[in-house]
Amino acid sequence: MSDLTRMTATELAGLVADGQTSAVEVTQAHLDRIAAVDDRVCAFLHVDTEGALSAARAVDERRAAGEPLGPLAGVPVAVKDVLTTKGVPTTVGSKILEGWRPPYDATIVQRLREAGTVMLGKTNMDEFAMGSSTEYSAYGATRNPWDTDRIPGGSGGGSAAALAAYEAPLAIGSDTGGSIRQPGAVTGTVGAKPTYGGTSRYGLVAFSSSLDTPGPCARTVLDAALLHQVIGGHDPRDSTSIPQPVPDVVAAAKLGATGDLTGVKLGVVTEFSGDGAEPGVLAAFRESVDALAKLGAEIVEVSCPHFSYALPAYYLIAPSECSSNLARFDGVRFGLRVGDDGNRSLEEVMQLTREAGFGPEVKRRIMLGTYALSSGYYDAYYGQAQKVRTLITRDFTAAFERVDALISPTTPSVAFPLGARTADPYQMYLADLYTIPTNLYGGPGISVPCGLSDGLPVGFQIMAPTLADDRMYRVAAALESVVGTLTPPAL
Ligand code: GLN
Repeated sequence: MSDLTRMTATELAGLVADGQTSAVEVTQAHLDRIAAVDDRVCAFLHVDTEGALSAARAVDERRAAGEPLGPLAGVPVAVKDVLTTKGVPTTVGSKILEGWRPPYDATIVQRLREAGTVMLGKTNMDEFAMGSSTEYSAYGATRNPWDTDRIPGGSGGGSAAALAAYEAPLAIGSDTGGSIRQPGAVTGTVGAKPTYGGTSRYGLVAFSSSLDTPGPCARTVLDAALLHQVIGGHDPRDSTSIPQPVPDVVAAAKLGATGDLTGVKLGVVTEFSGDGAEPGVLAAFRESVDALAKLGAEIVEVSCPHFSYALPAYYLIAPSECSSNLARFDGVRFGLRVGDDGNRSLEEVMQLTREAGFGPEVKRRIMLGTYALSSGYYDAYYGQAQKVRTLITRDFTAAFERVDALISPTTPSVAFPLGARTADPYQMYLADLYTIPTNLYGGPGISVPCGLSDGLPVGFQIMAPTLADDRMYRVAAALESVVGTLTPPAL
């Protein structure tokens, strides 16, 4: 058997279903790979060896008993540490939740289990999903497998790095402003942000509830679509979940893979295709646009004038929501408690706990959000940002009257060196310049590899109308049929 860790999820599921290999063998191969490389990559915060092997054994037993298996049965998956996992540590990359073992599974985790996938463990992330490099994790930075002196993106750098390092064929991320797509872009992997409400937030530790969207990460578009299908769909336990089935993203990925985009109209976002991006990123993007045109797509330029205001609007809306959501970490209900020596007041214990438990970026966001929501400033900041959000949504609506999907580079630069942006928060925020509009609008977006610049991966972003997630998979698979998958240098 050739190296199981190099295979796609589709291939692995096929081998397990045919009995050519067992789920235990597949799982063990990935656990071995993690043991061999993760001290250099640091993608995982927790590896659940026992849980993974026992889930794999259960799949093998079901197969032996002739029971039907789901399309991803026996395939390992790495889960971002933002989702609750029953009895398995969940830290959200923060000291404030160190040692917490949730009493319940997130809906997505439950669906992964029901589908027979094998959870390998929990992946590293920027604390509370705030960041673009994974350097804001309280447990140390994840490294980019393409160059371990560079960042793997964030906040879901652990999930993306696990894929690029062949530690897992599938992973789960969450995207509030780009945290699935930007890590996908800089690690040469595929990351999809579903339509808001298309994947359940039940058990997702909240950062910005009107933006947070969990979604699939993989090395191929079809694998991402299969994972999307397994985790997506209505969940009565999430009040913002859409009561509709997931569009047939798997069929769309298969259609796209035929390499025919006749009749598809794509809009290059004028504001995101100029000199804001690195020349190498723009060159790879332009080449890919030409490739899509050769596959039959009609390409036009579409101006979205309010997209330039998305970043400032996001940095008011997301911190505002976070300042409210993170109030629950009070040293009483979850995780860390500092200074509770019997002599201090409740307020003092809360203050000491939050001071010790949150890192600097999280504190910055809580302060920004508290200020933006304070009486007297609410209208000037939060209120204005909500108006900008409406204008951005209108840009999308107008664009989708003209084109089927919008396209741009995923991120303005390739993976930057560790430490390069930690001193300047604004530089860090700029990594999400092109991904944030989609979150404010609520539509789906995907990043797919489109080539290299100076030996580092470049991501291509496709943005579709809300509930038309299938469209972006079709275009992404078509591009993949030309570009292929990217293979990093050996670790
Ligand atoms: N990098 C952005 C931020 O820091 C987006 C994070 C995310 O999508 N979770 O807020």
